[in-house]
Amino acid sequence: MSNDAAREKFKIYLSKKGHRVTNQRLAIFEAAFARTEHFTAEELLDYARDIDDSVSRATVYRTLPIMIESALVREVDIGKNLKYYLPNSDDNTQVAQVICVDCDRIFEVKAPFMEWYGSTVSSKLGLTPCSQRLQVNAQCDSFRKTGDCKNRPQKR
Ligand SMILES: [Zn+2]
Repeated sequence: MSNDAAREKFKIYLSKKGHRVTNQRLAIFEAAFARTEHFTAEELLDYARDIDDSVSRATVYRTLPIMIESALVREVDIGKNLKYYLPNSDDNTQVAQVICVDCDRIFEVKAPFMEWYGSTVSSKLGLTPCSQRLQVNAQCDSFRKTGDCKNRPQKR
């Protein structure tokens, strides 16, 4: 899905849910869809304020669930009370998330086999899958061996 198509979907979803399409909400959308890496809600607030400095924290926290519900953004809960978000720019491809528990890094890998696997096991039960996810928690070899890894977040 292109950004334009995603923006249209967002606008339609907002109106369907009785929300107004405001510049602030659109700034949050643009900020989220400009990211290629995962981000936290607080980071999204920073990015959105770079576009429109009138975006409030409350608007970010109210808009994120709307974007998740409309499948425009995926939420990844990695535990430790940390939630990350990712724009769903390609909604037809199955992805598996591999989470490095040492470096808090989320890798998304295309996993076309998942679709095959999900439909095979479901059809044996007389079911049709509507969604599925694979999340792998993994340890970092580099960090455990050398105490360092290029994927570790820079301390701010
Ligand atoms: Zn690592």
